[in-house]
Amino acid sequence: MARYEDGQRSSTFTGPVLTRRKLLGAVGMAGAGAAIGLAVGSPVAGAAPARRSNGKRVAILGGGMAGLAAAHELIERGFEVTVFEPSALGGKARSMGVQGTGTGGRRDLPGEHGFRFFPGFYQHIPETMARIPFAGNANGVLDNLVGASAARLSMVGQPDLTAPMSIAGPLPMDFTNPDTLRSSLTAMFTLGSSLPPAEVGWFVDRLVVFLTSSIERRFGQWEYASWEETLRAEGKSAAYQSVLVSALTRQLVAAKPSMSSTRTIGTVGQAFVLNAAGIVPSYGAHADRLLSAPTNEAWIDPWVAHLSALGVRFEMGRTVAGLRMRSGQVAAAMTVDSGGARQEVEADWFVSAMPVERAVDLWTPEVLSVDPSLVQMRELVVDWMVGIQYFLRTPTPIAHGHLAYLGSPWALTSISQAQFWRSDFAATYGDGQARECLSVDISDWDTPGILYGNPARRCTREEIASETWAQMQRSLNDDGAETLRDEDLLSWFLDPGIAWNESRGENDNETPLLVNTVGSWDSRPHTRTAVPNLFLAGDYVRTNIDLATMEGANESARAAVNALLESADSTAAPCPMFTLHEPPELGPMRALDAARFKSGLPHLLDVG
Ligand SMILES: Cc1cc2nc3c(=O)[nH]c(=O)nc-3n(C[C@H](O)[C@H](O)[C@H](O)COP(=O)(O)OP(=O)(O)OC[C@H]3O[C@@H](n4cnc5c(N)ncnc54)[C@H](O)[C@@H]3O)c2cc1C
Repeated sequence: MARYEDGQRSSTFTGPVLTRRKLLGAVGMAGAGAAIGLAVGSPVAGAAPARRSNGKRVAILGGGMAGLAAAHELIERGFEVTVFEPSALGGKARSMGVQGTGTGGRRDLPGEHGFRFFPGFYQHIPETMARIPFAGNANGVLDNLVGASAARLSMVGQPDLTAPMSIAGPLPMDFTNPDTLRSSLTAMFTLGSSLPPAEVGWFVDRLVVFLTSSIERRFGQWEYASWEETLRAEGKSAAYQSVLVSALTRQLVAAKPSMSSTRTIGTVGQAFVLNAAGIVPSYGAHADRLLSAPTNEAWIDPWVAHLSALGVRFEMGRTVAGLRMRSGQVAAAMTVDSGGARQEVEADWFVSAMPVERAVDLWTPEVLSVDPSLVQMRELVVDWMVGIQYFLRTPTPIAHGHLAYLGSPWALTSISQAQFWRSDFAATYGDGQARECLSVDISDWDTPGILYGNPARRCTREEIASETWAQMQRSLNDDGAETLRDEDLLSWFLDPGIAWNESRGENDNETPLLVNTVGSWDSRPHTRTAVPNLFLAGDYVRTNIDLATMEGANESARAAVNALLESADSTAAPCPMFTLHEPPELGPMRALDAARFKSGLPHLLDVG
C-alpha cells in the first residue's frame, strides 16, 4: 500500500493575545489565510461591530465546540471574553491540513479527527452557524451544510442495504395507539430481507415501549438498563445484532450496546425516527447533513475570525493547570505555556470548557469542599473513536451519505467527502493527484482485526491503516465489484492524537470521547456548580440532547451562559435553547405509564 505518514501533533502557539495576524496561524492547520478568497468562500472578518463591554471578564478554559459557543454567546451579550486553549481551536471537531502535502499553490490534504455528521434534529448548531458570516452565503456558515440523500449499510457476504436520508414529505406516522405506531415503525425498519420479520417485530415492540414510556420511567428504569439488554439481543440473528442493536451505538457514537444506557440511545433513536419521518417542522429536510468543505474551512476558521472581530481574545498555547480558590470562589486559573512558564488569570467568571478527563484534574479538595458533587465526574467513562482518511486517485462516491460497515470488527463508518465539497478536490488539495478523501471513523479499539489479529489499540499506525483498509475492502468488494482498489490508494492520515506508548506496548489517545454508560446520568454534572463563579460546558454536561456530540457541547455552552447571566444579574436576553420534539399524541399513553411506574409496575407493553 502506498503511504506516507504525518505524525505531527497539533502546533501550539505561544505568546500573549491572539491578534488578527496570529489568528491566521492559530485557527487550525488548514489556516484561515488559505481559506480566504478561495473557491469555498471566505470568512467575513470584521463584518460585525465590536460590542460595548459591560466590564465583566469571563475566562473560558478550552477552545473546542463548547468554548467557542460560550464565547460567541457571551461576547454578543457585552462580556469581556478570553479563551485559553493549549493546542488548536475547534477541539475534537476541527480539521487539520496534512503538513507539507500541498504543492503548486494547493492547500495541504485535509485531515481531521473524524468526519462530521450533523443529523437533521440538531437545532443549536444550525442556529449558531446562521450567525457566522460567510462570503456569498445568505445564511452564513449554515449554508455550508449540505444534505446527504442515503445511508448505506454494508455487510460481508450479503447485499448492502440503502436507507433514504432525504425527507421527501411526511411519512404516514400514526401515534394514536400502540398498534398504529407499531405499523408505522415496521414500515420504516423493514430494511431488506436480511432481517427476519419476527425480529423486526420484536425490535419495533421494544421501540413502542420506549416511545410510550413516561419521562419518570426513562430516568428511573431505562437509564439503568443497557441498550443490548433492552433489545434482548442474545440469541438473535447476526443481522439483528449488527443492524438493529449495534448500528445506532457502536457505529454512531462509539458506544458498546452492552454498556450504553437505553435512555440515551432510545432518545437519539426517537429523534432520528421522527426526523426521518419528516413530521417535525423544526428538524432539517435531511436526516444526514455534512459540510461543503473541510470543517475548518467551512466553519471553524470563519467562526474564530468572526469572534475575533467581535472582540473575543484567544490566548493560545496556554494549558489550564489548576484553579486558585478564595472565599469559596475561583480567584484565578493557573495556566502554563508550552515553555513551562506559569501565569495566573483573574476574571469575574470562569467557564470550564475542557473535556471531562481533563476537567476532573481541576477538582482539588478545596474545590470539592465547595461542591462535593463534582467528585462524581470521576465515574464517567471515556472510550475511543478516531478518524483516518484515505486519499485516493479516483473519485469514489460509494454512497451519497454515510456508510456503516456492519459487523466489521473495528465498527467502521465512512463517508466519501469529495462529492460534497464545493471545490474541485485535485485542483484544491495536495499535489493534484488525489481526487477523493475517504474519511473513516474507527469506533471499536478492543476487538481483534482480520489482518494482524490485534485490536486497534495494540496496532502500530501503519497496521491500523492497512487493517482498516482491509476491513472496508472485505465489506465492499464482496460482490465481485472492486469498489476499493489498492492501486487507487495514494496515502492516508491518522488522527495525530494516536501515539504509540512504548512502555505499555499499545497506543495512547489524546482525545477520547465520553460514552453514556448505564446510569451515567447520575454522575454527569449540571452546568451550574456550587462554586458561584464557575460554570461547566462540554459534551459531558447534562443536556437535553444527552449525547456527547457537537450539538451537546453547544447546548451545554448556552446553558452555562444562561446560568452565568442569571448569576451576574444581567439584563441581556438568555440564549435560545431547543428541546427535542415529543409527539403530543403520545401524552395519554405516557400519563398512563407514569401512574404505573409510580406504583412500581412495569410498562403495560413490556412483556416477554
Ligand atoms: C472521531 C470523532 C468523530 C466525531 N464525529 C462527530 C459527528 O459526526 N457529529 C457530532 O456531533 N459529534 C461528533 N463527535 C463528537 C464531538 O466532536 C465532540 O463531542 C465535541 O466536539 C466536543 O466538544 P467539547 O468542546 O465539549 O470538547 P473538545 O472538543 O474536547 O474541546 C475541549 C478543548 O479543551 C482544550 N483543553 C484540554 N485540556 C485543557 C486544559 N488543561 N486547559 C485548557 N484547555 C484544555 C482542548 O485542547 C480542546 O480544544 C466526534 C468525536 C470524535 C472523536
